[in-house]
Amino acid sequence: MYVRGDLGERLLTEEIGEEIFALAAKIFPICRSITGNGVRQTLREIAAHIALEMHEVPTGTPVFDWTIPREWNIRDAYIKDSDGERVVDFKKSNLHVMSYSTPVHKHLSLAELKQHVHTLPEQPDLIPYRTSYYAEAWGFCMPHRQFENLRDQAYEVFIDASLEDGYLTYGEYLHKGETTDEFLLSAHVCHPSLANDNCSGIALLTHLAKRMAGLRTRYSYRFLFAPGTIGAITWLARNEHISQRIKHGLVISMVGDGGGPTYKKSRRGNAKIDRAMIHSLHHSGLTPTILDFFPYGYDERQYCSPGFNLPVGLFQRSSFGKIPQYHTSADNLDFIRSCHLARSFHLIVEAIDVIENDAVYLNAVPKCEPQLGKYGLYGAVGGNKDAATESMAMLWILNLSDGGHSLLDIAERADLPFTVVRGTAQRLQQHGLLTLIRPDKGTDLDICDFGCSRQ
Ligand code: ZN
Repeated sequence: MYVRGDLGERLLTEEIGEEIFALAAKIFPICRSITGNGVRQTLREIAAHIALEMHEVPTGTPVFDWTIPREWNIRDAYIKDSDGERVVDFKKSNLHVMSYSTPVHKHLSLAELKQHVHTLPEQPDLIPYRTSYYAEAWGFCMPHRQFENLRDQAYEVFIDASLEDGYLTYGEYLHKGETTDEFLLSAHVCHPSLANDNCSGIALLTHLAKRMAGLRTRYSYRFLFAPGTIGAITWLARNEHISQRIKHGLVISMVGDGGGPTYKKSRRGNAKIDRAMIHSLHHSGLTPTILDFFPYGYDERQYCSPGFNLPVGLFQRSSFGKIPQYHTSADNLDFIRSCHLARSFHLIVEAIDVIENDAVYLNAVPKCEPQLGKYGLYGAVGGNKDAATESMAMLWILNLSDGGHSLLDIAERADLPFTVVRGTAQRLQQHGLLTLIRPDKGTDLDICDFGCSRQ
């Protein structure tokens, strides 16, 4: 017997939102990038909750068409005016330094300095988040209003950083289920102090993994915490054999704001995870946005590249780039809320519940409707709304349980929440009216467009 039916209840508690928020707040100040000690420190915070395995991949290692870059570490940075005052101070916000900036220490005129300063004229009070991973450069980021008030004088710029041969670091945690078929949950760990993008996603997945430990599940759950793009590419390059076990997957980012929810479908478009997430969002009472796959965004770009074509979608509250806080200093701890984190957690767990519990049953009394009253299953509570929903669920389940429809098929067709259909099917089974035939694995793509076989 699986305890899968209780998965939702076992994972959901009142405190989940606060717990996720607390971890997001703890990792928020860390200066992360695609490599370096900020990533390691973040992974260590995750490892305080789950048995995270950390991997170090040396600079120069080829990973498909890419190469592991040099490791970047930063200790301090500032712009000082001629009075020696720090007008920009890395210690106040790590967004002030363009990520991956090469080290620099020199005196400049205002005109020279301006070549290296990034601002947001449309949002003059915010610090932008900028990176320069694959072109050597240095730069500072600051509020446009402050930038406009810089006096024409000499400035001292100092970025105490190093860019040297080292490692790319990522972490993973595997919750072993009853099968080796896997559900991948992936979050990027390369952004510095940005709360929603993606301290929220890192913290949510950590607590999901933590709560899942000790639960019996049908699928194995792989939690991957890796720097965006290069981290996912690295994992895929080193785990091509494992990637074939991935039957469902989600990339998680920006799950702490009150927008959305947004689900971007996998490249396959009709994978089980797509249907499970759409079902969860459709019955959430919120106003979801469902997007077709497009080859831009987060690490679903890599998982859904044609040579892999994994069934991996993207779950977010607000969509990236669609909110003014995106990639600015306004994406701070005031922007995310424990209630939104808890709601996001619920929506993901509901989809997992579908994936774990979807099954095909057979009606044991298929010739005409069974006389439900005889089993104490009909109209027990007249006029009760829940009873009416359950009666309708029974009729749908009995009618469609012909061996060709799963519980999710039935829930979709009847427009009923999966939990209602699942619970009702269990009752019918207890009364001998329904027989379990098989768990439903969903549609597997046998051959990808590039001819790689997929089980
Ligand atoms: Zn981002």
